[in-house]
Amino acid sequence: MISAALIADKAQSLKGFCIETRRDFHRNPEVGMQEERTARLAAQHLEKLGLDIRTGVGGTGVSGVLQGARPGRTIAIRADMDALPIQDQKTCDYASRRAGVMHACGHDGHTAMLMATASLLTDLRDSLCGNVQFIFQPAEEGPGGARAMIDDGVLLDPKVDACLGLHLQTDLLVGRIGIRYGTISAASDSIEISIRGQAGPGAGPHEAVDAIAVAAQAIVALQTIVSREISPVEPAVVSVGTVRGGYRGNVIADEVFMTGTVRTLQADTRSMMPQRIERIIRGVTGAMRASYDLKYSFGYPSALNDTAITALAESAAKEILGQDQVEHLPAPTMGAEDFAYFAEAVPASFLRLGARNEAKGIIYPGHNPKFDFDEDAMPTGVSVLSLAAIKYLLER
Ligand SMILES: [Zn+2]
Ligand SMILES: [Zn+2]
Repeated sequence: MISAALIADKAQSLKGFCIETRRDFHRNPEVGMQEERTARLAAQHLEKLGLDIRTGVGGTGVSGVLQGARPGRTIAIRADMDALPIQDQKTCDYASRRAGVMHACGHDGHTAMLMATASLLTDLRDSLCGNVQFIFQPAEEGPGGARAMIDDGVLLDPKVDACLGLHLQTDLLVGRIGIRYGTISAASDSIEISIRGQAGPGAGPHEAVDAIAVAAQAIVALQTIVSREISPVEPAVVSVGTVRGGYRGNVIADEVFMTGTVRTLQADTRSMMPQRIERIIRGVTGAMRASYDLKYSFGYPSALNDTAITALAESAAKEILGQDQVEHLPAPTMGAEDFAYFAEAVPASFLRLGARNEAKGIIYPGHNPKFDFDEDAMPTGVSVLSLAAIKYLLER
């Protein structure tokens, strides 16, 4: 009989492995689609456990199937492997050794935890009915590896019936799990806008069409999409993140190039965004004698947690940690997560794993150059993922 206490014990005994593995990845970070070393170590680990592995899935992705002693359904557990192009500012001995690259989002921890989860569940193979597919995904931070792995068949053979994933969070106390029913992350799209006017002397604006004045109006007008066109109870974001243009203070600029991001939760709100943005840019540039180019690129969709799989993960978390360590998250994040593609393909749930510890100085958010997470979180993650997978395979 597999109990929560047994799983928690086994996960605790894998803590040393988790820390050592995570620190090794942390010292040797690799950005998206270049995760050669990380993928190789994950694959070697699965191979040593005797799993059927596939490498080079959707780029540098790796997958491994654990077949239980008896047949049944298949549940996938996914981790992301990529680091970010950020200079590590930590001084600890496991700080990044690669200039300008660091694990600032905890994906080193996700990969180490999934390797440990594979060890734990392989140990229990004799009591499993069904399969567990371990998925090590590249490029979550962009351009995206989930879609590529799915297109490459990672959810087929054996056909995956459900999927689990989690993310380390330094806004949630270590020892806690955050769960949420329904939408958990936003759709993330990007915009590129060129505005063209006509250059001229700064002293003679009537002889020019000032692209900077037009861009300024356009930026302000874009803010009215969220404030005036979308219901105040429906979350959406339009942010212009870069503006580039001009030559010098006494010359009127003929061109401005801007980039931005668009975040939405509902599909119908999202689908209206390209035409809303275009209407405003067309109107403002037309009114001010300028012309424009707009490129709207759809990125990750928003991720939806399945009710049944989330309930299963919640009960696993409560059995491992106790009722009061499991938090219902009040709102989705407007951040994006390409786990969304797995959640689109099969019933899935994405959990938040608490990793904040102010006493240890672990307070920095993801993507901060001083980011770190409390390693005590890792056995928690391993035990909750393992027990949720076991529960799924026992459920009929
Ligand atoms: Zn990130
Ligand atoms: Zn991340």
